Amino acid sequence: MFKSGTIVKVLLPNVVNRGYDYRLNADAELGAFVRVTLMNRPYIGVIYGIGDGGVAPEKIKNISQVFPWKLSVADLQWIQKMSAWTMMAPGAVLRLIINVPDAFSEPKVEQLYSYNFDAPKSKMTESRQMVLDAFELNDNEPMATGDIQSIARVTPGVVKTMIARGMLVPTISRPVEKSFAYQYRDMGNIELNPEQRAAADKIGYDIKNGGFSVNLLDGITGSGKTQVYFDSVWRAYQTGKSVLLMMPEIALTTQFIKRFESRFGAPPVVWHSNLTAARRREIWRGVVQGKIKIVVGTRSALFLPWQDLGLIVVDEEHDSSYKQEDMGNYHGRDMAILRAKLANFPVVLASATPSEETMHNIEIGRFGHLVLQSRYGGAELPQIETIDMRENRPDEYRVNAEGEDTRAGSLSPILCQEIKNTLDNHQQVMLFINRRGFAPIVQCKKCGWVATCGDCSVGMTYHKRLGKLLCHMCGRTMNLPEKCPNCGGEVSMRGAGLEKIEEEVKSRFPHARTALVSSDTMMSRGALERLVAKMESGELDIVIGTQILAKGHHFPNLTLVGVVDADMGLFGTDFRSAEHTFQQLFQVAGRAGRGAIPGRVLMQTYQPNHPVLNAICAGNRDEFLRADMDARRTAKMPPFGQLISIIVECQKESVLKKFCDDLAHAVPNVNGARIMGPVMAAVYVARNWYRMRFLVAGDARAHLQPLVQTWLSRVRVPANVRIKIDVNPQNFM
Ligand code: ADP
Ligand code: ZN
Ligand code: ZN
Repeated sequence: MFKSGTIVKVLLPNVVNRGYDYRLNADAELGAFVRVTLMNRPYIGVIYGIGDGGVAPEKIKNISQVFPWKLSVADLQWIQKMSAWTMMAPGAVLRLIINVPDAFSEPKVEQLYSYNFDAPKSKMTESRQMVLDAFELNDNEPMATGDIQSIARVTPGVVKTMIARGMLVPTISRPVEKSFAYQYRDMGNIELNPEQRAAADKIGYDIKNGGFSVNLLDGITGSGKTQVYFDSVWRAYQTGKSVLLMMPEIALTTQFIKRFESRFGAPPVVWHSNLTAARRREIWRGVVQGKIKIVVGTRSALFLPWQDLGLIVVDEEHDSSYKQEDMGNYHGRDMAILRAKLANFPVVLASATPSEETMHNIEIGRFGHLVLQSRYGGAELPQIETIDMRENRPDEYRVNAEGEDTRAGSLSPILCQEIKNTLDNHQQVMLFINRRGFAPIVQCKKCGWVATCGDCSVGMTYHKRLGKLLCHMCGRTMNLPEKCPNCGGEVSMRGAGLEKIEEEVKSRFPHARTALVSSDTMMSRGALERLVAKMESGELDIVIGTQILAKGHHFPNLTLVGVVDADMGLFGTDFRSAEHTFQQLFQVAGRAGRGAIPGRVLMQTYQPNHPVLNAICAGNRDEFLRADMDARRTAKMPPFGQLISIIVECQKESVLKKFCDDLAHAVPNVNGARIMGPVMAAVYVARNWYRMRFLVAGDARAHLQPLVQTWLSRVRVPANVRIKIDVNPQNFM
């Protein structure tokens, strides 16, 4: 407790700050939220420690207000450690926590609108549907026009028209305040099987005895991971602690929320990026006051002002959506583990396809491994086979029915025949194209050879601008080979995108009802759920997607999954390509044939003997992991080494070049680390900003962050240059 009059350090939620000195005019605890002014602007901050006396006492301002809410000492340490790890300033980390400044003021009074379900029939356009989705995501509570626009991602014009047509009607002017202080009870409707019980008891032991631990719940889809962690949630809740259940946005479905409610007798408090300002405010206040005990949320829920957190569950722990990439770079799973370690409570990770980072932590004994061997009820995985594209060249297809134009196809005759058979049997098809195939790869049509970088074991990408092949990791370039160095065969650029596949499917199967699922078209959860409903009711025949449909859905009539280009993922431009491809293919495989009819998965490849594909066909996840982790160990890639990516951006190409030269000259000499670059970033120009990249690589024990700090402090950064640091990057664009 600091006495009134003490000079304390207050951390403010700013990008660049490590705290300012203020004088207390009331007693306050370490970690308390306070209101202060800086340059005549009001801010909310937290008491971060004792003042360091760097400012003359007469210049020090008083704190305006001390709130009765605070962060724990462990959480302050968490801010500090997270800052050191991610290289974000502590204030930037605090900004992730104080991201609802409204929580400290009276609720806003503003005009709110409700969705009028009885409105005279108006045309349901796509944007109007998005508005309806936005309401649904917020339990159809009244919303301000600003919220409607930002959540539905529509223009003010759309909202105006809907008001004019009576589709939206003005209701009250002040948001309903909801306490969200639900009471939960165990509905006792589940009996765990012996395997599930053993896992649940192990986690339960850690919850009961307190203390930090991380356990991976490892089991295929349907093995009962959710049932097991529900048991953990219940045990932690009973001890009076708060519980956070993290999931990727796409898994946070109505179906899941209903399942939670039927298990615990009340809905969870749900936190994601599509909430109204009023709702964010209420949830933030409920959490800081310790009234809200269980939240199910996306990665940002980790930054709620938790009081007495006793358990974090990270479902789908391998999912790349846990990695935040624009407003600071952090990994939600890793930062959850850090928070648990400092505050001393258990973490449960769950996945059917765990990340190699997590598997490595199990290998070295840092994490526990709880395996659920069988699929509950004993359903079988589908049959998985490859199609050798060297011998099954796709035929050309007609671009449109009337015209003569034809185009080279991507679907082999075998796959087309299988699709036809499936459609004839009134069953459904899913075609999968790896999203990571952003840029074309160079491959031999005859033997399947792919141009890869000798230093980094990643595929090389053809850059038109350079007229050469470029390695996106280290910057090595290579001339485009005229012939295959392996067999002398013809090499070609490959990489058909989603739209091209759709065109081909429509041309070959004009009567099939098709839909696209991509990260761009799948914007809202509402849209996703509508698509799932269409699949379930049989209104769709073929789904073409860059990503799998959400976890937990059963499509009993989906019996064929076609992977259009399995190679595209295997030789992607970063070292996680194979891992991600495996995870996606494994999950895609899990979609097929979950009903009475057995499913089939066909993967088109030019390298049918590749170990990754063999492992998938054999359904042998562990064999795949072993092979891929060995490759990473040799290449010293994470988790056996560390990487920090530094992207430098500027709108003036010449300034950027000069600055990169300066940086390259300032590289410090350090054992156990090397700095690669500058190299053109994979996306060289983004919204008129030119982008270059450096990559710092070191072995697992090297302290790369201080090295980068020293390095960057040696150069003067021009005002029009932006530097983005990403520790353990997931993305090399
Ligand atoms: P996962 O999370 O591993 O995909 P779930 O927990 O969702 O698996 O379980 C898959 C299905 O099996 C669900 O419908 C679930 O209700 C059912 N199930 C799993 N374990 C049990 C159990 N012990 N008793 C009854 N049903 C179970
Ligand atoms: Zn060849
Ligand atoms: Zn390379």
